[in-house]
Amino acid sequence: MPIDQDFPRNHQVIGRHNHGDGKHYHFIWGPGSISDAAANGDVRAAYAARNEELVPIGVHGTMVAVDWDSCIADGSCIQVCPVNVFQWYRTENDVPAVDMVNATSYGNGSDGKDNRLDYTDKSEPIREHECIWCMACVTVCPTKAIKVDCVS
Ligand code: SF4
Repeated sequence: MPIDQDFPRNHQVIGRHNHGDGKHYHFIWGPGSISDAAANGDVRAAYAARNEELVPIGVHGTMVAVDWDSCIADGSCIQVCPVNVFQWYRTENDVPAVDMVNATSYGNGSDGKDNRLDYTDKSEPIREHECIWCMACVTVCPTKAIKVDCVS
């Protein structure tokens, strides 16, 4: 399912994801959607292979928001972004996604399209403060999981 275009009103802030530079962070919004999280076969299989529970995650981002339940680790957003806003979160913090609430990342994970650890990985807008509003990621995402300039 596409990201809820009105998610700031329909969801609550459940935490934040801090950038290791000490200046930047983005919000994480919940609740997530288990039906979205379990919709893709590759994603379900990857969780099963890890023996990791597939649970609702929610939306990561404030200005560049990615619905992690809808994200299927396609990587097109990572490839197309001209200013490298995104990284694969597991390539820096290989933990269950729910453990990324109030976590800190330094942005030293991979920003290669096909460098996901597996299909449980998610596109993390760790450098959303560098977004130039080109909207390429919004257009290219196969599940329409991204909303840019979401704060209203
Ligand atoms: S809108 Fe453009 S610059 Fe901003 S995150 Fe998406 S692809 Fe990157």
